[in-house]
Amino acid sequence: MHFDDLEPCVYHRGALNAASWAVPLHAVGWLEATHGFTSGDVPGGLVSKLVRMVEQTERAFPHYVFRGGHDCSLCVAENTWVRTPGWSQANLIVPGTDEVFAAPSGVVHYIEHHRYQPPQAFIAAVSTCPDCDSPSYLAALHHANRGLDIPMESNEAYMQRSRERLAAAVQRGAEARERAASRAEATPAVPVKGDGRDRKS
Ligand SMILES: [Zn+2]
Repeated sequence: MHFDDLEPCVYHRGALNAASWAVPLHAVGWLEATHGFTSGDVPGGLVSKLVRMVEQTERAFPHYVFRGGHDCSLCVAENTWVRTPGWSQANLIVPGTDEVFAAPSGVVHYIEHHRYQPPQAFIAAVSTCPDCDSPSYLAALHHANRGLDIPMESNEAYMQRSRERLAAAVQRGAEARERAASRAEATPAVPVKGDGRDRKS
């Protein structure tokens, strides 16, 4: 998957889709070997902060972590790809100022191994981003989204909603069975009629 840096991110539904946000959702670090990218130095501490954010995101939002693999196409092109422990399928959603950033967790690898230099606005947003497993993180996203609802919820809220959906489905099933049973009671069984001639022939 490739986006130019700061291009609107439109990927799946929900948090990674620009249409879900009131402010622009800007893609950062969606690198592929077939496209160029900016390289250069990054501030000290950026990589370790990103690593922590990936770990926190995996812990706090397991319901958003995609299954399945994606290899680093830059390494694959150089025939040097080795899946590193930090490589994950989580995606980072980072609150900015009147914008939100969407970055694959691979951004850590791209910076460390390919000298990728993300846009300054992203670097600034990462440096002030609250811990992704804290309530202040969702509050910061809410604030960045002009105080409007955000397309993300905590795992607790997600599980609660799933339980409610399941309970509602079970309830609907029970009601449907009840209706079917009362219809069967109201309709007398039709007796099978025969005049006896069938049996003689
Ligand atoms: Zn690589």
